Amino acid sequence: MIRSTSIALVCALSAWQAQPAFAYIKFGVPAGGRTVTLKWSQTPRYFVTTDTVPGVSAADFQGAVARAFATWEAVPTSTIAYQLAGTTSARPTEDDGSSVLGFLDRPDLDRVLAATDFVIDVTTGALIESDIFFNSAFQWSTAGEASRFDLQSIALHEIGHFSGLGHSALGETELREGGGRRVIAAQAVMFPIAYAAGSTEGRTLKADDIAGITDIYPTSDVNATLGSISGRVTKDGQPVLGAHVVAFDPSDGSMVGGFTLNNQGSFSIGSLSPGPHIVRVEPLDDADTDSFFSATARVELNFRVMFVDRVIVVPRGGDSGSVAIAVIGK
Ligand SMILES: [Zn+2]
Repeated sequence: MIRSTSIALVCALSAWQAQPAFAYIKFGVPAGGRTVTLKWSQTPRYFVTTDTVPGVSAADFQGAVARAFATWEAVPTSTIAYQLAGTTSARPTEDDGSSVLGFLDRPDLDRVLAATDFVIDVTTGALIESDIFFNSAFQWSTAGEASRFDLQSIALHEIGHFSGLGHSALGETELREGGGRRVIAAQAVMFPIAYAAGSTEGRTLKADDIAGITDIYPTSDVNATLGSISGRVTKDGQPVLGAHVVAFDPSDGSMVGGFTLNNQGSFSIGSLSPGPHIVRVEPLDDADTDSFFSATARVELNFRVMFVDRVIVVPRGGDSGSVAIAVIGK
């Protein structure tokens, strides 16, 4: 019997609450005494619900979900693939060995559009099951109707989690009257705050999402063709945890983010296109930090946005070499 554990990650896609974020991150899970990347070791099979909600038939749901899976599968630098196993009346939260996408009525979760959870093999870290629920307390559409959330967009985000991706911090928000945040723009489907109802902007993957899925499931030639930027962020000589580091490629305008994730303040952003990049470091200020880090992490927020004062060249098949970045308090 496989020892497994069910983990409910803080990866609910928020309707309007700001949840903080990283540039793309992979989930690390403790397994066999070490931390391993959460990923599928074989093609995941998924079931879709036969339940319906107003405005979304079972066929609509299956179609929207299939398009979202196909969008991730179409990333040319990634090998991820998924297999539809069939339809089911099982609930998406039962730990029954079957990955299920479906609806749950959770009016108590009044800021959670959808969420993904996992069952993992705690000895290897391999994913065994991942369920996605969409909160039927909200209004849904598969046709981009006004005032309804776009099921395909939200599914695309949740399937990113299903595949092992965490949140990205590449988004801008503004505070709303009465609390929460509104998204102005997001350079990642994995940004933790959804576009408003009626928007279908979340149906398209961005460079950050593509780098993230490539990092977890690279094709065999990726290591020879793409590169990375690594470095270390300090403030007053001390390492900074939770700094958001963004690599901008001026040749195509793409942005890929990463975070300093350890006590040394070091970061590494992989799956970048070779060539010159502009690197920016900023505090996590467009979402709540616990969308990205554990609640107990001492994430540094008190520093000014800064650009590295030289162009960082990503070598083909290699790393930039450690980039030292000293930030300054606000
Ligand atoms: Zn999420």
